[in-house]
Order: sequence, then C-alpha cells, then structure tokens
Amino acid sequence: MSVMRKAILWASTNAWIRENAMRTGFVKRSVSKFMPGERIEDAIKAAQALKPTGLNTIFTRLGENITRLEEADEVRDHYLKVIDLIQQAGIDAQISIKPTQLGYDQNFEACVTHCLTIIEKCEKTGTFFWIDMEGSPYVEGTIALFKRLRTHTPNIGIAIQSYLYRTEKDIEELVALGSAIRVVKGAYLEPADVAFPAKADVDENYHKICERLLRDDNTKPGALTHFGTHDIALQERILKLISERKVASSRYEFAMLFGIQGGRQQDLIKMGQRTRCLISYGEFWFPWYMRRLAERPANVWFVVKNMFSR
Ligand SMILES: Cc1cc2nc3c(=O)[nH]c(=O)nc-3n(C[C@H](O)[C@H](O)[C@H](O)COP(=O)(O)OP(=O)(O)OC[C@H]3O[C@@H](n4cnc5c(N)ncnc54)[C@H](O)[C@@H]3O)c2cc1C
Repeated sequence: MSVMRKAILWASTNAWIRENAMRTGFVKRSVSKFMPGERIEDAIKAAQALKPTGLNTIFTRLGENITRLEEADEVRDHYLKVIDLIQQAGIDAQISIKPTQLGYDQNFEACVTHCLTIIEKCEKTGTFFWIDMEGSPYVEGTIALFKRLRTHTPNIGIAIQSYLYRTEKDIEELVALGSAIRVVKGAYLEPADVAFPAKADVDENYHKICERLLRDDNTKPGALTHFGTHDIALQERILKLISERKVASSRYEFAMLFGIQGGRQQDLIKMGQRTRCLISYGEFWFPWYMRRLAERPANVWFVVKNMFSR
C-alpha cells in the first residue's frame, strides 16, 4: 500500500482533521464530484436524471460509528422515509446501510431490530436491502447480522472485501445460504495480518471470488452477485467468464459509485449489462470522502486545484 494511501486513510479517522476540513470551502467543492448533495432529495433527483439512461441506483446515507444508541432511531426512521420517497419517485432504487449507523457498536440486538423494521417496509414495497462492510473488526459480526436477517428475507445482500484473506472462506458459507453478495476490493486501512498488502493480490483475489460466485452451484434462491468495482480490466475479465459460461443475466449486476467512471457506467448499459450507481448523500461525509481520495492519487490534485478556484 502506498505511503499516500496510508496517510489519507489514517487522516480519515482523525477527529481534528474532520472538524476542520468539513468547514472548508474547497473541500466541500471537491466532495461534490462524488456526491450530488447532502440531502436525500438531492440523491433522488440524481437518480431520476440517470433513470432514462438505463442506470438504476442504490442509496446510502453517509455517517458511521454513531456514539449514542438513540441516534440509530433517527437513522432507522430516515431509511423508512427513503423507501417512501423511492416509491413516490417511481425509480428502481435499493438501500444500503452500515451496521454501525444502526447501533451495532452499542447494542447488537438493537441493531438487528432496527434492520428488521426497515426490512419489513422493504418487503412491503419490494425494496432491496444491502449491508455495507466496514473495517475488519466488524466482519465477523456483520456476517452474523446478515445470517440473522437472511432468515427473514431473501431480498438482502452483504458486501464482502477481496483484500481480506478470510473472504474466500466466508463466501462458501454465504453461497450455501443463497445470498446476494456485493464483491468490492475494500476501502479501509487494514494490517498485513488480515489483508493482502499488495494491490495486485487484492485484484487477483477479486477475480478468484467472482469466478467462484459465477459457478453453477451458486443459484439457490436469493443468490445474486454485484460486481462493485470501477476496475475496467477486471470487469472485462468477468465479462469474459460470463460469456464463456453463458451465465444468466439475472444472476448478476455491475455496481459503481456516483461520479466515478461515469462513461464506463453508460458503456456497460449499452453493452446490455444491468448496472447500478451507488449514490451517497448526507452531512457526515468526511471519512467516506477521504476513502475516495485514497483510492486515486489524482483525486488529491483535484482537491488542490479547488483550493485555488472560486
Ligand atoms: C457499489 C460499490 C459499493 C461499495 N461498498 C463498499 C463496502 O461496503 N465496503 C468497502 O470496504 N468498500 C466498498 N466499496 C469501495 C471499494 O472497496 C473500493 O475502495 C473502491 O471501489 C475502489 O476500488 P475499485 O474496485 O474501483 O478498484 P481500483 O483499482 O481502486 O480502481 C480502478 C480504477 O477505477 C478508478 N477509480 C477507483 N476509485 C476512484 C476514485 N475514488 N476516484 C476516481 N477514480 C477512481 C480509477 O481509474 C482506478 O484506476 C464499494 C464500491 C462500490 C463500487
């Protein structure tokens, strides 16, 4: 992992830097590249604009690691409102939550209950519910959370990270259950005893995981694979596998982030590939934004450029 990536990921968790950066104009201007706005209404508007192009969406409200359990009530109610707004807007959109937004750190059972309340509404409206994967200390518990919730509905998915050594084994359990799995490389600063330090190994493991998920036995009810990556070379390797194995298009989707490789998102649609754009919004964007910066050094120069623009 490069020194710059390590430094940015370290800064993403620093409270002093967060407080100061969030008030700074040029940082705010730079964030708008990845986020249509802080309000759900901004995200819905962006989704409505994408819809005619064939691109469907996933919404996630930024904010993680709440500090008081009561805050989770507000997050739960917010997502209940989002489901209503999706219905009213007539868009094909899913939601994606972080367990630590819903009280995971304070009380696991309360987090399960909040998720179930949201899922109940998802079931009534046909809205798909995703669970993001956070840093490695949360992986075991997040998989346990997914398994609990999976007994209530097949319309639920979990993100897994190819930078973790453990993921290859984790997916076997998930495949056995019939699971929607979003494969991502992983966005957090992880030590070498839990995650591959070299990017080439992370990329290769990503392909290996996808190869596994595209086998014929991963077709139990509830099974779905989301390829969550902007890595065009990897996407092409996956498309080759799909074509060689004649994998049904209902078994997978591509998923990419708002503001990243927008042209490629449209190209995939034109190629007839089901593709979703994950739109983030919310006031607490700092750690998430820093993770986006860490993914691409060129983004840092974009911020520097904004320092001098009005
Ligand atoms: C739909 C979706 C959901 C995700 N959910 C999670 C999650 O739950 N947990 C988690 O840990 N991570 C999540 N991530 C983030 C993921 O782990 C990676 O950090 C991120 O996607 C960058 O990796 P990459 O696969 O795009 O490949 P990379 O090799 O990092 O990037 C490939 C190419 O894409 C472009 N690119 C990538 N990132 C950026 C960027 N920020 N700005 C501009 N260009 C960029 C560059 O051209 C780069 O060369 C998610 C990503 C997506 C797309």
